[in-house]
Amino acid sequence: MISTGLQEKHLKEDFEEEILDGYSAEELFSIPEGLTYKDFLVLPGYIDFSPNEVNLETYLTRNIKIQRPLISSPMDTVTEDKMAIALALLGGIGIIHYNNTPEEQAELVKKVKRFKNGFIVDPIVLSPEHTIRDVYAIKEKYGFSGIPITEDGTKNGKLIGIVTNRDIDLEKDLSTKLRDVMTTDLITAPEGLSLAEANEILKKSKKGKLPIVNSKGQLVALICRSDIKKHKEYPYASKDANKRLMVGAAISTRPESRDRLALLVEAGVDVVVIDSAQGNSSYQIEMIRYIKKRYPEIDVIGGNVVTQEQCENLIKAGADALRIGMGPGSICITQDTMAVGRAQATAVYKTAKFARKYGIPVIADGGISNIGDIAIALAIGASTTMMGSLFAGTHEAPGEYFYENGVRLKRYRGMASLEAMKAGGAKRYFSDDQEIKVAQGVSGAVVDKGSMFQFVPYLIQGLKQSFQDMGVRSIPELHEKMYAGKLRFERRTLSAQAQGTVHGLYSYTYPVFGMPENKK
Ligand code: GDP
Ligand code: 5GP
Repeated sequence: MISTGLQEKHLKEDFEEEILDGYSAEELFSIPEGLTYKDFLVLPGYIDFSPNEVNLETYLTRNIKIQRPLISSPMDTVTEDKMAIALALLGGIGIIHYNNTPEEQAELVKKVKRFKNGFIVDPIVLSPEHTIRDVYAIKEKYGFSGIPITEDGTKNGKLIGIVTNRDIDLEKDLSTKLRDVMTTDLITAPEGLSLAEANEILKKSKKGKLPIVNSKGQLVALICRSDIKKHKEYPYASKDANKRLMVGAAISTRPESRDRLALLVEAGVDVVVIDSAQGNSSYQIEMIRYIKKRYPEIDVIGGNVVTQEQCENLIKAGADALRIGMGPGSICITQDTMAVGRAQATAVYKTAKFARKYGIPVIADGGISNIGDIAIALAIGASTTMMGSLFAGTHEAPGEYFYENGVRLKRYRGMASLEAMKAGGAKRYFSDDQEIKVAQGVSGAVVDKGSMFQFVPYLIQGLKQSFQDMGVRSIPELHEKMYAGKLRFERRTLSAQAQGTVHGLYSYTYPVFGMPENKK
């Protein structure tokens, strides 16, 4: 038994000295072994604020700020226009993959830049010479029958009418031309209105559709009454100075990417990712220098790198951010096949610490499997996190769902899997001019995760709660505390890891995404 007097003495001493339980990040990573996200935990801090007070604003590059630290990976099973639109609306950013022709990639970038929340900017249209049968064919294929009619049948042609269900439902002769049934006394709205203003006109008009036209009477967009309730505002959306959504695109390090880049810049891309598994190469350094000189307004993300020496080369060349990771990805077999790489937490900590001296943010890329991994990556210096598998099963990822053993799945494959390389994806791995291809990735499937519009808010809420537990209100504060040695960490033994997840139960349901409809 410690006497009361002795207890008081200890307490007094403790108050006078700063208590430093656990270890600083510097101590944690000062060992010869590389660590991964699961090898340690952050010790809890002091809570005097609610999760809603946590601000997740962060730097994607030295010049671009976003409100959520989330990026979708440039992979052909992860990021095309739909993913990039969803993630930008939700405050992150998508990087469009380049396993396609330069024209196709530029078109995907354009689709994101053209996107206007609630406005259908490329509505299906018909000409007056089409027939009722054509409308039914569209209804069958797309599920809607409200079709604007333009003079020449092109999307941006002069608007001369609209055909809706009520114009055709009592007509028996399906070969009747639309010019004979379309409604021509149109209520339209001029280009340039906000969604709220356009919705107001639509409401008053009591019609189902509101075509938006420019000063020449050409169709520029359509809004639908049935969408009014669905489209809310997105206060955290990542937008450029012209209020268009932001989007990134990946290119390879090769000189031929210069033509691709020209198309991407013309399409309005905001940031370019130079996609290379081992970023410390003369090709990449030259490409960064070229972009910074030719397109100084475009930010460049270099990578991938995992050591301080690699960072130094790319920062010197002019990179505005660095992408960190070699081999931690869920589909990666680089570390197995090449025996080169680095454990991801060590890679993130070491590179972030180095890049910070130059004001360059780093992106933790690969190996992120849940909210905890995002929180840990940020806690050891990353400014943002990049996800492949975590987003691959969502509605917005490219590809169709399929069933295996009754489970709804989507395909997900590494860009250096044999399958993706066949489709042109070997650019990242210096192997496309070799006869024999050594795969550095696999192809497989991931489970359905529902829509990004539910999944991302869930991730964000979890992340805010994690920040609250750590006792920090923002990413800059987290980094300051970590570098000052005030954020404390502790290694986890294997048994600590086993105890830190579900154990000892006969059966259980894991709340995979925290949403009841996603229960397995
Ligand atoms: P309709 O009255 O048969 O045209 O169908 P609704 O207006 O009830 O629903 C149409 C749905 O399809 C809305 O959610 C639209 O946003 C969506 N949609 C997507 N693209 C288009 C398009 O090109 N034309 C029309 N009419 N709707 C589209
Ligand atoms: P995930 O989020 O699925 O764990 O990892 C995604 C990351 O893995 C990508 O952003 C990219 O850096 C990396 N990656 C994508 N495809 C391949 C591949 O085929 N091989 C390797 N080694 N890494 C890949």
